[in-house]
Amino acid sequence: MQTKQDARIKIAVQKSGRLTEHSMELLVRCGLSYSRGKDRLICYGENMPVDVLLVRDDDIPGLVQENICDLGIAGLNIIEERRLELIERGETKLFEQVSVLDFGQCRLSFGVPEDMPFDGPESLRGTRIATTYPRIVKDYLQRNGIEAKVVEFSGAVEIAPSLGKADLVCDLVSSGETLRAHQMYEALTILESRAALIRTPVEIPPEKAQWMKRLLMRIEGVLQVRESKYIMLHAPRARLKEITALLPGSEAPTIMPLEGRDDKVAVHAVCRENVFWETLEKLKEAGASSMLVLPVEKMLA
Ligand code: ATP
Ligand code: ZN
Repeated sequence: MQTKQDARIKIAVQKSGRLTEHSMELLVRCGLSYSRGKDRLICYGENMPVDVLLVRDDDIPGLVQENICDLGIAGLNIIEERRLELIERGETKLFEQVSVLDFGQCRLSFGVPEDMPFDGPESLRGTRIATTYPRIVKDYLQRNGIEAKVVEFSGAVEIAPSLGKADLVCDLVSSGETLRAHQMYEALTILESRAALIRTPVEIPPEKAQWMKRLLMRIEGVLQVRESKYIMLHAPRARLKEITALLPGSEAPTIMPLEGRDDKVAVHAVCRENVFWETLEKLKEAGASSMLVLPVEKMLA
């Protein structure tokens, strides 16, 4: 798609790592098709004036903050650390968080050596904590009125205790396997992280604004659709109220008569939450039958 360079929306996405595939998939679900530049650092949108810059995740908040990119996708862990850093530097115009996405789940937790007891935040008092997130950790300690030494590491935090550089760590955890492999256990979570979408603090110029609005609306649509289900069932008229009340996150369902049946109706509804087996079992107990749950492909309010 031919548009002037400055009328194109630039999104910063992790070049290669845990967020890359999910981030690109989200943009593709928004309708973007792209070709990859020769240097493989930019994906050029072919059908939308949207280009994707592929960079290290740590650089994403900075690129958005400085308005080099209009949008960016990074983990809340990175976003929060950079936000605290910018505040420390006295920046007043910060990037803005647009939405929290549905991938990249992990926790920022204290990992404690197996032989060290842990009875809550007080156990951190006077310890040395190794982390790549010094500002988030210091902020946590300060909010809890605890004095401890934060030792900044740029990577391989988990080896700090065995090197004698720290007593414990504060690091990203998903399964806890890495901590266990280094004779530590997960003692306390201080941040539940997910990928999030951030935008520049600068006002979007008018030539970009319309596509920006469309893109953000589509992203919201994709997020909502992934959670949503379309449910169809037959319900006894007498228990209709009870049955519709059981449908998770649905607004005004469609009620239709069933040919030749006065006692039953068909109910169709969009549920904005996943429909689990437990819900179907409860619906059945309430007299529902012929239940069908379908994925939703697209949705626009
Ligand atoms: P880069 O080269 O871009 O700096 P990286 O090594 O810092 O890559 P990854 O390990 O790919 O980054 O993680 C990217 C993000 O994925 C993390 O910042 C975090 O938000 C999220 N994430 C999800 N699960 C985990 C996990 N188990 N460990 C670490 N990060 C995770
Ligand atoms: Zn990184």
